[in-house]
Amino acid sequence: MYCGGVIHKGEKYQRSTNLYNGTVYDWVTHDKCEEIAELLDMYRRTWDDGLTADGFGEFVWDAICDFFPDSDEACDMSTEERVDWLLAHKDKL
Ligand SMILES: [Zn+2]
Repeated sequence: MYCGGVIHKGEKYQRSTNLYNGTVYDWVTHDKCEEIAELLDMYRRTWDDGLTADGFGEFVWDAICDFFPDSDEACDMSTEERVDWLLAHKDKL
């Protein structure tokens, strides 16, 4: 749900059931998105509503701009592809 991508059959993911304003909803996220959220310290840097998909996308994009300013290849990627890309380069984060 963070990256907006599809969780494929057999792919690792996490599911949490939350109660918000009397409504129960499921939050499902890829393990890799969870990993990137922790790597980039998103939870500590997010206020109010918690981490949303929009916020997640911005953190991911900001990280690419901050750490890899010369990289053009990430421009046309979806958020999910950027997550994959960041994880492939996480030793530089
Ligand atoms: Zn994801």
